[in-house]
Amino acid sequence: MTFNIGIDSLIARIDAILPQTQCRQCGYEGCKPYAEAIAAGEADINLCPPGGDVGIHALADLLAAEYKPLNTEHGEYKPRAIALIDEATCIGCTLCINACPVDAILGATKHMHTVIASECTGCELCLSPCPVDCISMETIVEVSDTLKKEAADLARERYNFKLARIEREKSERTQKYAERTQAKRPETNTSSVIGNELNNKIPDKKAVIAAAIARAKAQKTATA
Ligand code: SF4
Ligand code: SF4
Ligand code: SF4
Repeated sequence: MTFNIGIDSLIARIDAILPQTQCRQCGYEGCKPYAEAIAAGEADINLCPPGGDVGIHALADLLAAEYKPLNTEHGEYKPRAIALIDEATCIGCTLCINACPVDAILGATKHMHTVIASECTGCELCLSPCPVDCISMETIVEVSDTLKKEAADLARERYNFKLARIEREKSERTQKYAERTQAKRPETNTSSVIGNELNNKIPDKKAVIAAAIARAKAQKTATA
């Protein structure tokens, strides 16, 4: 199948159909990577359980592809749910914060954590890391298509924001490590300073030759 639109535009249109739960049930790191794989012809259109049948039909229409039922090896379609933390049991270990793809959990080390309901996509990625099993999923009333789209747009934005934050923190850590390593090597700095000083003290090559010629001429005159 060939398309008259650019690959980026095709990826964006596929991504706009995907529910942005960012649950990784499709086998990709998020909705956008799955969209990229579909656009590249590397992934089937029926791997997203949260998107369900509606999503598969929309993808089939967009790509002029044949509809296929959901591949249940990747999970079953379920009603939308959000995470709820039993704050009395929470030990504040922060593992759920790291697991959440859209930064929907608030809390600090050794303090109870709580889920921002309006930002939770229901991906369930926070469940398994919790060492005290104090997170449960609560089914929510289905909302209108407009609200679903607004929630998906917000989830996409927060997912991209989290990815950008992780990248920024990684590069800050690399920079700090490089600075610390540099600071631990004063001898390198000292020797380079000494080296520069020595270099500065080495006379200009032309001047040395000129001085040698002058000395030789002076000697000749004295012996003549
Ligand atoms: S919602 Fe989950 S399964 Fe569907 S595309 Fe996004 S990450 Fe993949
Ligand atoms: S709070 Fe849990 S279920 Fe909700 S988005 Fe974050 S990781 Fe997913
Ligand atoms: S993983 Fe569980 S115990 Fe740890 S902070 Fe999150 S909710 Fe609390």
